[in-house]
Amino acid sequence: MEVAPGIFRLELPMPFELRHVNVYLLRDGEGFTLIDTGLQTDESRQTLHAKLASLHVPIERINRILITHIHPDHFGLAAELREQAKAELVIHRLEVALMEPRYARAEDLVHDVAAWLSTNGVPDAEAEFVKTASMAAREFVKVVEPDVLLEGAERLGIDGGELEAVWTPGHSPGHCCFYWPDRRVLFSGDHLLPKISPNIGLHPQSGADPLDDYLQSLDRIKGLDVDLVLPAHGDPFPEPRDRIAAIKQHHEERKTALVKLTSDSPRTGWDLAGQLFQGIRDRNVFQQRLALQETLAHCQSLAVEGRLRKQVTRELVTWKAA
Ligand SMILES: [Zn+2]
Repeated sequence: MEVAPGIFRLELPMPFELRHVNVYLLRDGEGFTLIDTGLQTDESRQTLHAKLASLHVPIERINRILITHIHPDHFGLAAELREQAKAELVIHRLEVALMEPRYARAEDLVHDVAAWLSTNGVPDAEAEFVKTASMAAREFVKVVEPDVLLEGAERLGIDGGELEAVWTPGHSPGHCCFYWPDRRVLFSGDHLLPKISPNIGLHPQSGADPLDDYLQSLDRIKGLDVDLVLPAHGDPFPEPRDRIAAIKQHHEERKTALVKLTSDSPRTGWDLAGQLFQGIRDRNVFQQRLALQETLAHCQSLAVEGRLRKQVTRELVTWKAA
């Protein structure tokens, strides 16, 4: 699991469709830096501790924890590990702003989400169903106050060199990749994955135009000299440019499909999601909600570009080809 000298990939289990998340342990002189933490579950916790033990790394030698973003599989164990290791916790400040409403005052968020589902065309019965999907996430996370806040472009000393925080909003508003220029290594979090394209969704906690944020963030990564990408899910892969081109093409195809689907009459996001993602109504509520968010992110980007007309009333948001 040593993927480069002094860089260890620790694969941790998840009880989801996506079976694993990678966290990375980086040797830093006598100590270590950990990138992401895995879920707050017994299974994940035990696996992490077993892997650290097999590397002969006592938890106290981890003196810094970097977080790519606060989704439960990346951030779940952060509070506990920081406490045990007395480590410094480092997160982008836009992620910190999401933490309280998402995990501590989830009832308020659920209220906002219900209104949002309704204006995007989700029928009442199904709205009740879909809005509960995110509540389960709370079990896997604990709210915590970070020690260092990032905005992007920070240089963090590591093993005689520097690790650069690269702000890459899109999948989450304060998502960060971590770039080690001396080693030509990029820790890409969920921003760039080898097999799947990360969910880019428009929803009450997202940026206002997350798909365009995401595409611009991909360009930021394209400018870096990278020989090895270490993603949060799946295997390491060499330089990111081919993968970036494929992901961009995928999003453009989705946008073209949406322009077609809205050529006759104005449609809601829910309606469009059902057509863009065939068979989605038979999938679980979590998948349905991601499909809606993903559809809306593409519609918003098209509206900003002027290819769709976005109509808004108090009751309904609709989209129609321009
Ligand atoms: Zn994520």
